[in-house]
Amino acid sequence: MLSIFISLFLRSIHWNMFINDTIIALATAAGSSAIAVIRLSGSNAITITDKNFISKSGKSLKQKGTHTITLGHIVDGERYIDEVLVSVFRNPKSYTGEDTVEISCHGSSYIQSEIIRLFLSKGCRVARAGEFTLRSFLNAKLDLSQAEAVADLIASDNKAAHQLAMQQMRGGFSNDLKSLRAELVNFASLIELELDFSEEDVEFADRNKFNSLLDEIVQTLKKLIDSFASGSVLKDGIPTAIVGAPNAGKSTLLNTLLNDEKAIVSHIAGTTRDAIEDELSIEGIKFRFIDTAGIRTTEDMVENIGIKKTFEKMSQAQAILYIIDANEISPNTTKEIQNRIKQINVEYKDKKIILIINKIDQVNPENLIDFCKDLDPIMLSAKSGKGVEILQKRLLGMANTGLLNSGDTVITNVRHYEALTKALIEIQNVQTGLESQIPGDLLAIDIRQALYHIGEITGEITSDDLLGNIFSNFCIGK
Ligand code: GDP
Repeated sequence: MLSIFISLFLRSIHWNMFINDTIIALATAAGSSAIAVIRLSGSNAITITDKNFISKSGKSLKQKGTHTITLGHIVDGERYIDEVLVSVFRNPKSYTGEDTVEISCHGSSYIQSEIIRLFLSKGCRVARAGEFTLRSFLNAKLDLSQAEAVADLIASDNKAAHQLAMQQMRGGFSNDLKSLRAELVNFASLIELELDFSEEDVEFADRNKFNSLLDEIVQTLKKLIDSFASGSVLKDGIPTAIVGAPNAGKSTLLNTLLNDEKAIVSHIAGTTRDAIEDELSIEGIKFRFIDTAGIRTTEDMVENIGIKKTFEKMSQAQAILYIIDANEISPNTTKEIQNRIKQINVEYKDKKIILIINKIDQVNPENLIDFCKDLDPIMLSAKSGKGVEILQKRLLGMANTGLLNSGDTVITNVRHYEALTKALIEIQNVQTGLESQIPGDLLAIDIRQALYHIGEITGEITSDDLLGNIFSNFCIGK
């Protein structure tokens, strides 16, 4: 216990040294633009800006309250660099919790770098990746999962990812965990207190209440852990493999879906030898399409590698589009093709499989009636696009979009998933320990372990490595 306090104390000294200076970075994308925003944060942010700013009104920024905007010029001695708007946010009412200044200047790369260079010479330091958000976390403006949601929000490129990041940033998920953690801390303290009175054989922690709390925690953890499978897939895109015999029209279908010419289309069987990935957003839900080499028996070594990859991709995918060339279907081949479909359904029974009959423009649909019985395929022409919108609807129906509107907490972050899984194991150890009446000191160790893993998610427990890892993935200026 003492070592934990020492390490927390040392960390606070370390981080305080680290966050005492004033940092600067471009907050908007690098390059020319209409307007660019340069952000400063730290105890000298306002003073340093003031020294290089002449406001139109003649008032200094020191005289300005929080959340104000002032028009003026950034100057380097006699030299006017740009006419700008300066926003002042005073601590603690800023994103970082420190005094913060945002300079909206004209977006020339030259002006941006001149202003940053000027402020660096006046005592600012270039911010590290994610340092503004790190400071926000260290100043308790955000907990760790909310800070991570900021990165997800910036990276969100589809409706689902955006909605999930917003939900996490608003803190729904941390709140659930924080209250459970607080109750667990309470029990841990009572059990630790019992240890001090071990001679007297007293029980401060009501075992029945403790058992029901553990049950509740297990349910919550399991629900969060289960949400990861759908959550991460919604955030990153649903991996969807397009498979079928060579020349069935897989690449053509992918091109039609994506509306571009990424995959090579050719009439020579076996041209798509490598798996090609691309992303498509259908009504805000992202699908990651994987075009694969066709499945057939071949002597060609390169093609065989492609076919092996196809099977790998199929097992990684969540959905499989199994595509059949309508021209292949005849009374003679029906049985064999139906067997193939059955085999795929058995082998990949945990996947969502959509059967597609392609090239319907080349056949008489009536000839397919017998074949289609009990199969419920989508008939389309990948080349003309006819029927493709039915496929898009079927894909959407398959995605667990209800999750987005359910208001339930959804986990999308691998780090959270791992911490929750470890916390669940520890809580289950506590349950087993309680059942078999293990000594209180051992029970307390398991509870502390579970607390540790839950605290890792919200940031009550952190290490420098963990913080470094999380925030280095941010962009500079955030
Ligand atoms: P893959 O090997 O499964 O990827 O097949 P491709 O997409 O390369 O298509 C093989 C051939 O079938 C090409 O000549 C395509 O133009 C043609 N093709 C694909 N889909 C259709 C379709 O719906 N109708 C017709 N008529 N031809 C198609």
